[in-house]
Order: sequence, then structure tokens, then C-alpha cells
Amino acid sequence: MRNLEIDGIGMTSRRTRERMIQRLQAQGIKSKQVLEVMRQIPRHLFVDEALAHRAYEDTALPIGHNQTLSQPYIVAKMTEVLLAGGELDKVLEIGTGSGYQTAVLASLTGKVFSAERIRPLQVKARQRLSRLSHHNVRLRHTDGSMGWPEESPFAGIMVTAAPDEIPPQLLSQLSPGGGRLVSPVGGAGAVQELVLITRYGGDYQRTVLEMVRFVPLLSGVIS
Ligand code: SAH
Repeated sequence: MRNLEIDGIGMTSRRTRERMIQRLQAQGIKSKQVLEVMRQIPRHLFVDEALAHRAYEDTALPIGHNQTLSQPYIVAKMTEVLLAGGELDKVLEIGTGSGYQTAVLASLTGKVFSAERIRPLQVKARQRLSRLSHHNVRLRHTDGSMGWPEESPFAGIMVTAAPDEIPPQLLSQLSPGGGRLVSPVGGAGAVQELVLITRYGGDYQRTVLEMVRFVPLLSGVIS
């Protein structure tokens, strides 16, 4: 049965979503699977109702607690880069936030482990992800800079808040056989570098992709 709320109408409709996909292609996103998944996922359900009509705009949106849902282009770009080395069985995400990026990852990878330091955000994200039947996701209320050691190594790690430098614990939890980590780096600065790290054994290759703007990675948890 069709679910009108999930399908969306007007500014949240399939046509609006389709325009977002066309814009992503114009911005250089090439991965067919990333585009297809972002075409399917109802991004408007990951923000408050009052903002739903803006969900498909090319912009970051507030999700409360001074945090933001990343703009569609950044979500697409980071996902495309993470997946460029082939399929990923196990992925770690730091900064669940709204859960939108988590949903995108869950649709494209085997299993997603996602850490969030602000409890109320995590609670909402959990509701959204279960409503949309993303069952291959585990969420944890924790300071994600420690990673998730019991589940390591990860074929992919995505950090969606900017540290001053990538925490060494995350690097050590990356699969030594070509594991990929994507993260903004530069803390609370006005702009940060989006960095890709690829691990081969003890060798960590670093590529700077572009300049970005993220909220900072903070320590400790908020209940
Ligand atoms: N991927 C999210 C982006 C949210 S913004 C989305 O699609 O909506 C970044 C998120 O990282 C915020 O929710 C913030 O609370 C969280 N965060 C910041 N520092 C963190 C840390 N040390 N551990 C876990 N989460 C953190």
C-alpha cells in the first residue's frame, strides 16, 4: 500500500526528489547506486515537519541542538567516495544526527554502526530508521571519537562532524586491507578539508577531496 507521508506531496513529492537527483548529477555525482538510493529515501522525514518543504533544497538544514543535516551534495559525495573501492560489508558512522546519512549507508552496505553523542537526536533517528525498515543498523549513544572497537575492523568509516585531526582510534579500527575513511578535518574552523584515508596494513594514504563546512566533532555525551 502506498504511504502518502513517505511518498510525499508538493514540495516533498517524487518530482521534487527527482529534481534533487538531477542537481546532484549536474554537481558531478556519478554513482548510479548512490543516486538511486537518494531518489528513494524520503529526506523530508528526517527533518521537523515545519522544514519538510525545504528538505530537497541544496542546503544543510537545522535538526536542533545546534546540529545540521548535511546538504544533499555532501551526503552523496561522501557516500560515493566511501563506496568507490567496492562493496562494504561493515561501516562505522560517527554522528548519526538526523539518521539520513545512516539510511543512505544502510541501503548500500551490509551493516551500519552509528554513534551519536546527543541522546534526543539518537532517539529520533532510531524512530525514523525503524519506520523506514532499515534493520541493518545499530545505534549507540556515545562519544564516537573512540570508535566501536568490539565491531572493528570496518571496511568503511564516515565521520560527519569535523575533528581537528582524525582520531587515531578510528584509524586503527579501519580494515588493513584497503579500508576507507572519509572525514572533514579542521575542527571548528570556518572551512575544513574533506579527507579520504585509505589503509593498507600500516600505510595510511591521505587524499584531500575538497573544502567543506561541518559542525565540529565534540567530546563527551549529552543525555
Ligand atoms: N550525518 C548527520 C549529520 C549530523 S551533524 C545527518 O545526516 O543528519 C553531526 C552530528 O555529529 C551531530 O548530530 C553531532 O551531535 C554529532 N557528533 C559530534 N561530535 C560527536 C562525537 N564525538 N561522537 C558522536 N557524535 C558526534
